[in-house]
Amino acid sequence: MSATDDETPFDAYREDVERPLTRLFHEYAPGRLGYFTVGMVANFLARMASLVPPILLGAAIDAIFTGESETLELPLVPAAWLPAGELPQFWFAVGAVAIAFLATAVFTWIYGVTANLFAHSVMHTVRVDSFRKMQRLDMSFFDEKQTGEVMAVLNNDTQNLERFLDNALMNSARLVVMVGGIAAVLFYLNWQLAVVTLFAVPAMVGFTIWFMRAVEPRYVRQRSAVGRLNTRLENAIAGMGLTKTTSSEAYEADRVSDSSMNMFERTMDVLKLSYFYRPGMELLAGVSFVATFLVGGLWLTTGTAPGPFTGTLSVGDFVVFLTLTQRIVDPLAEVSNIVDQYENAKASSERIFGLMDIPVHVDDPEDPVDLEPVAGRVTYEGVSFGYADRLRATDDRAFEEPVIEDVSFEAEPGETVALVGPTGAGKSTLLKLLLRLYDVQEGSVRIDGHDVRDVALTDLRSAVGYVSQDTFLFDGTIADNIRYGQFDASDEAVREAAKAAQAHEFVTDLEDGYETRVGERGVKLSGGQRQRIALARTVLADPEVLILDEATSAVDTKTELLIQRSIDRLTEDRTTLAIAHRLSTVKDADTILVMADGEIVERGTHEELLEGDGRYATLWRAQAGDRESAAERLVGDD
Ligand code: ADP
Repeated sequence: MSATDDETPFDAYREDVERPLTRLFHEYAPGRLGYFTVGMVANFLARMASLVPPILLGAAIDAIFTGESETLELPLVPAAWLPAGELPQFWFAVGAVAIAFLATAVFTWIYGVTANLFAHSVMHTVRVDSFRKMQRLDMSFFDEKQTGEVMAVLNNDTQNLERFLDNALMNSARLVVMVGGIAAVLFYLNWQLAVVTLFAVPAMVGFTIWFMRAVEPRYVRQRSAVGRLNTRLENAIAGMGLTKTTSSEAYEADRVSDSSMNMFERTMDVLKLSYFYRPGMELLAGVSFVATFLVGGLWLTTGTAPGPFTGTLSVGDFVVFLTLTQRIVDPLAEVSNIVDQYENAKASSERIFGLMDIPVHVDDPEDPVDLEPVAGRVTYEGVSFGYADRLRATDDRAFEEPVIEDVSFEAEPGETVALVGPTGAGKSTLLKLLLRLYDVQEGSVRIDGHDVRDVALTDLRSAVGYVSQDTFLFDGTIADNIRYGQFDASDEAVREAAKAAQAHEFVTDLEDGYETRVGERGVKLSGGQRQRIALARTVLADPEVLILDEATSAVDTKTELLIQRSIDRLTEDRTTLAIAHRLSTVKDADTILVMADGEIVERGTHEELLEGDGRYATLWRAQAGDRESAAERLVGDD
């Protein structure tokens, strides 16, 4: 599965997400609207305050330095509020400028804090929510090995939201305030010159639209190059063992280099255009500046309105025009970023809600039956099952060929039922149905007579223990790993469980004993040791029903004996469904089921099956031969 331009499993869900950003606000903004509103208002006030100094400067030039006007003339401020006399007005202007700078700083700070609180707290909740949802997804979802995709949603996509909620939203507010505010001031001061100054704005908007259209496909290609590179890296790191043992480092490095070069080129495609855009905008602003300078300058030097213009222009107004013209570029140049962040956030929230909308098939029943106290009778009746072809958002999922066909059997409380048969016969699959890692398509799996689909998932899974072939250990101490699932268990209980699982001895031999940290995925322990930890975990959980998926990986005879002894203790008084590869371990089972191609082809006790002289008997004789030759080898070694 690659996360490239090929269709990914998320695409199917994504298509059905409507108006993702509206939904984002609808679901996550309430409760945080305070931060959002304060952020927006502070942003608005900060930008307004930043316009005050140039306006005051212009008014002061006219009223105080050139004496062109009698008194300070300020937009929105009645003359009655201003002090009389040149010097008091000068002090007033200086004070107001200082306050404006202070206000800009304070409001920018408030805006920064609240906008970030808003964006990051939305991001946090979205991340945790999608993680929770992800945990509930059907096991079949994870069979497609889309961990990279899920990681991307939880990580990159929530990050994209942050950039949008923080930067893009606030910058677009700033854009409106600045362009709108500046235009209003300029028109107030001198509408004719304002027309000259703002003449370039439509050109800037046009230029921006052209840029966005041109850059969009390049962005798409760049993003898919990033995806390809990530997939390649992920794959290369996961396969490091294979790469080393086959000396394929050069080959792998070449592949990474190709992907990286591709990303480099795609990124340059974007950058070439981006680096053209910014100076282009500045050039247009320059045109506007020159035009204003030319017309305003002529107006002032000749003392009469040039060309079609009428009326007068003061030096102060001219200064305000020139200062504010330059202020218009920055917010406008942000437009391309805003649009990019908007597009990214839209795609990201589509993916996030796509994940959240994936239907869960294996879920708690509406009205679960109470399982307590669990006796441990397990019944399979006419069970058929096939893996989903490829999980889709729709309910009419396509199923591959059935892997389990019409299987029926029963295990009485305390009994042991063993499953044997060739690899791929469906043994693991059959037992996973009891845990509801998957749901049957036909028939039913029952525990104490209750269909497992009528039992709450936590009740079911605490009644059924599962020791799988591949024992996963979390990064943490050995004690943490034994305690996983029974988080309140005392140290004493952990120790007892380890003793029962024959793990106590090797654990206490380790330098830090139970506090020894196992590395990520438990690589510091041998396979046999990991398995005993997993067994200890199950002993501690003390389930009434036990599923044992025997490891095919070979452990040495001594370890095997140890593990077998701990398993024997574990299975003594509980219902056990065990998959076995070495028949010697199952000959005492109450019932042995021989599976082939998803069906039970033989059943009975060890003796009955030998008498029947079918597949089991053949297999037994073959393994007996192995055992003898192994014994001979051992004798020969002596
Ligand atoms: P056994 O435990 O007897 O070796 P399994 O139950 O593991 O057999 O597999 C039975 C069949 O189901 C095999 O053909 C296998 O390829 C297929 N299978 C197992 N797991 C999956 C899965 N997660 N998705 C699709 N097919 C699967």
